[in-house]
Amino acid sequence: MAFRDSSQNPPADRSETAWQAYANCAGLDPAMFFPERGEDHRPAIAVCASCLVRAECYEYGKDEQRGIWGGVSVYADRRRSQPSRVHRAERRRQRKAASKDRTS
Ligand code: SF4
Repeated sequence: MAFRDSSQNPPADRSETAWQAYANCAGLDPAMFFPERGEDHRPAIAVCASCLVRAECYEYGKDEQRGIWGGVSVYADRRRSQPSRVHRAERRRQRKAASKDRTS
């Protein structure tokens, strides 16, 4: 996933959390980035849109259970990474066919 505009310079200090000094959200209410279910997450996404350290932030938050990291909602990201219903149905069909082959 490429976030950074090639016209922008990456932060020079590459230590593990140094990127946080470049965060657009520094000084903003953290609750904005942890919206409750049904709350509008677009204001946070808008802040992230021009953030220089989106890639670092996304990586940092990839194991988090909630929140917006790198401009991506954990909920939306989780949904994207799950197989679609079509894929699950296809896998079930393949398992059934393989099971029938073994028994005949
Ligand atoms: S991408 Fe991460 S660091 Fe940047 S504004 Fe959004 S939440 Fe903050």
